[in-house]
Amino acid sequence: MNGHHLSRLLERAAARRPDHPAVEDDQGRRLSYAELRRGADRVATRLSRWGTGRGDRVGLWLPKGLEAVTAVHGILRAGAAYVPVDAMGPAVRAASILAAGGVKVAVVSAALAPSLRAAWPGGSPLPRLILAGTEAAPPETVAPGDAPWAEVLADDAPSPLDPPRSDDDLAYILFTSGSTGQPKGVMLSHANAGTFLDWCSGALGPFETDDRFASHAPLHFDLSVLDLFLCCRNAATLVLIGERLGKDPGRLGDFLAERRISVWYSAPSILALLVQHGGLDRPGFAAPRLVLFAGEVFPIAALRRLRAAWPEARMWNLYGPTETNVCTAYPIPATIPADREAPYPIGRVCPPLRARVVDADGRAVPPGTIGELVIAGPAVMRGYFGQPELTERAFLRDADSTRWYRTGDLVRDDGRGCYEFHGRRDRMVKKRGHRIELGEIESALYRHEGVDRAGVVARADDSGVAIAAFVALKPGAKKSIIAMKRHCTVYLPHYMVPDTITFLDGLPATSTDKVDYSRLNSLAAGEGAPP
Ligand code: AMP
Repeated sequence: MNGHHLSRLLERAAARRPDHPAVEDDQGRRLSYAELRRGADRVATRLSRWGTGRGDRVGLWLPKGLEAVTAVHGILRAGAAYVPVDAMGPAVRAASILAAGGVKVAVVSAALAPSLRAAWPGGSPLPRLILAGTEAAPPETVAPGDAPWAEVLADDAPSPLDPPRSDDDLAYILFTSGSTGQPKGVMLSHANAGTFLDWCSGALGPFETDDRFASHAPLHFDLSVLDLFLCCRNAATLVLIGERLGKDPGRLGDFLAERRISVWYSAPSILALLVQHGGLDRPGFAAPRLVLFAGEVFPIAALRRLRAAWPEARMWNLYGPTETNVCTAYPIPATIPADREAPYPIGRVCPPLRARVVDADGRAVPPGTIGELVIAGPAVMRGYFGQPELTERAFLRDADSTRWYRTGDLVRDDGRGCYEFHGRRDRMVKKRGHRIELGEIESALYRHEGVDRAGVVARADDSGVAIAAFVALKPGAKKSIIAMKRHCTVYLPHYMVPDTITFLDGLPATSTDKVDYSRLNSLAAGEGAPP
């Protein structure tokens, strides 16, 4: 079976509407479906010439742009899986993710290539690079076998024959924060993604070829899967929002209006900023007709303002970890009552997935009781790349061997199959939609030679969530907050760098000598005295 293979989407769209704009970037450059198809073919040709295809992984470390989208389709066309890495994140993290993913080739912006090589961990072979972008890498840092993007696109070798493909093949690996310090590679197959896209078409459709999908999420976020592939499935136009524009709500408001975006999908935090600073109430602003958000709770006051600005739009709160794709959904009503204080629920399970609420021992709890949400069905990941034990622990198994993914999220079934979200059962937090394991920040702090003990907690602040780190130094180490933050930026993306760092003589400990997080939470809240 290969009806869900993502490479089919571009083939069909290019056959159906070859001259229709497939993708536009925020600089005004664009590719038609025929051009995108040709570019993807060229990338696939190069990969297969380099012996890379089905069963292989290809990394992506470049800003969101026409090249990145072309590369995604080319990698899928070659039968390989793409492994996108945060283009704005540090080289050490990118290199360790790409090495952990065992990529044979990486498409990297030429300007970033030298830092990737320098940060590459010893012991794993360097991948061959396709160098994208206009800024050239200094010649001495380009390895002999690497290929510039322009050369790949100009190649007139025959396109590879259709590679053998199966829906069960790996389509992409998305690395998310890992509590032990090593990011976890969530493996998703074409069938996993296709199941999700089928649900989108049924529940959120119909879509039109004239739809214009914004692509706000970076490619290493699972939200981008909807943008990239639902758009292509409908031969509509994908409008890319680059990393800088994506964080600038004032300019983003203008951009939405000028580019006539009709489908929007992002984390709630950027929508909350847009409604505050984006000038959405200007006369004649054509609001998107479909607005989707996911990734964190949308505070009700900000959602009410958005609803008032865009009363006609269909709006959905989507929920799901990267490991399951979207797995529950709730339609937001046209008006939000003035006295509503609670956030809207995460909603009902998306068929054909199944959901259950369980206690700490994995037994189903009755409706009305808070428990952990577990999810089964064909959109659920295959597992974590190269980590069979972690994968095993991520699932509960039924007597009939159904695998239920343990989301770690606490929910309550209202008695009618609609779930309310009640936070986490572990130390994972969301900050502006980014998934952060506080343990990964602690691991980064421990990589500093002067750190004796470190504990990290999150607390709510005016802008959402703030990360507070507490550090006890080894004797003689210098207490410098600036140096410690700088150290963190070498290993962590900017959103994980602690907002505050407090040096303590010793960390509060439990009777079993573990870090006492409840006391750290009190310290972070300004209550209680340091030990
Ligand atoms: P990620 O894997 O980055 O998509 O993050 C998944 C986590 O984000 C979930 O396990 C939840 O904790 C949180 N999350 C996702 N969607 C929502 C939502 N609509 N409301 C509240 N939390 C959400």
